[in-house]
Amino acid sequence: MPKVYITRKIPDAGINKLKSAGYAVIISEKDGVLNKEELITAIRGNGYDAVLCLLTDRVDDEIFEAAGKQCKIFANYAVGFDNIDVAAAKKRGILITNTPGVLTDTVAEHTFTLMLSIAHRVSEADRFTRAGRYHGWAPMLLLGADLSHKTIGIVGLGRIGSRVAHHAAKGFDAKVIYYDVKKNEEFEREFGAEYKPTIEDLLREADFVSLHVPLLESTRHLMNRERLKFMKPTAYLINTSRGPVVDEKVLAEALRNGTIRGAALDVFENEPAIEPELLKLENVILTPHIASATEETRSKMAEMAADNIIAALSDKTPPNLVK
Ligand code: NAD
Repeated sequence: MPKVYITRKIPDAGINKLKSAGYAVIISEKDGVLNKEELITAIRGNGYDAVLCLLTDRVDDEIFEAAGKQCKIFANYAVGFDNIDVAAAKKRGILITNTPGVLTDTVAEHTFTLMLSIAHRVSEADRFTRAGRYHGWAPMLLLGADLSHKTIGIVGLGRIGSRVAHHAAKGFDAKVIYYDVKKNEEFEREFGAEYKPTIEDLLREADFVSLHVPLLESTRHLMNRERLKFMKPTAYLINTSRGPVVDEKVLAEALRNGTIRGAALDVFENEPAIEPELLKLENVILTPHIASATEETRSKMAEMAADNIIAALSDKTPPNLVK
């Protein structure tokens, strides 16, 4: 009976799929992230044929070594796979898969939630009200900014970026500008969107900048001190991609000194740690990496990861193979 190890409890939909396929499924009993030693101890010598891992697991060559030669696949429970050394996996002939597409709508919704919430000062207003500071309607109370008819700058026009652009253009009559390593003329026609050949061109014009690039060497600290200065002082930065895409210390400074008006972040540079300076600011919203966290989507991700494992263990090409 093939054996599958899951590094932390995920929704039953995926676990049941693996069990129905006839596999023995072993789930880490720790309700937390396994550190490297714990992960190695958990998988070494146990003959697992597949490992279902999470974005919080750092998976490198030592982990593959510990998994053993019989292990065919590490199925990541995320669309991003910057936590995995894909080159090392390839050398060993281990397949790596991810869960693209099923979370696109949910992450785009969360991105919009953040955009609207920071512009309408929702978290700040909630704190204000709970603190007993609301003493009646006032013409100048907590004035925010509209999103409708504004310019939305999408950095990384992939699955999620395109969906955010769709909502902005169709739902809020916003002008969409985008920056990506590739131009998408069909998208431009459909949404009246404009391609910006450099990120600086986008930053100069956008009222909202939304980041949707994968974490790569080319995108690490894409939003650094110099680039933040290109943004309008009235603009907002939204990050639902990966934390290290933004230099968090420099962002805190920019928010404090008014270089930009606000930011809303779902991801952080050194998760779960958060730059202490950010915690002191009112003009930032912080959500704990929950952009894909709906019951529906997390179940679909679990099923997708299971399907990838089932394909690999049936000597078929998994549907979401990372190449
Ligand atoms: P995708 O691959 O469809 O889109 C990524 C886009 O970024 C592509 O169009 C690509 O051409 C572009 N790109 C790559 N390198 C670039 C660069 N250097 N400069 C500009 N553009 C570049 O991926 P997706 O499904 O849209 O997901 C995007 C990212 O969102 C994922 O990689 C993941 O890290 C992140 N994500 C976060 C959460 C969350 O919970 N916060 C959930 C899902 C995905």
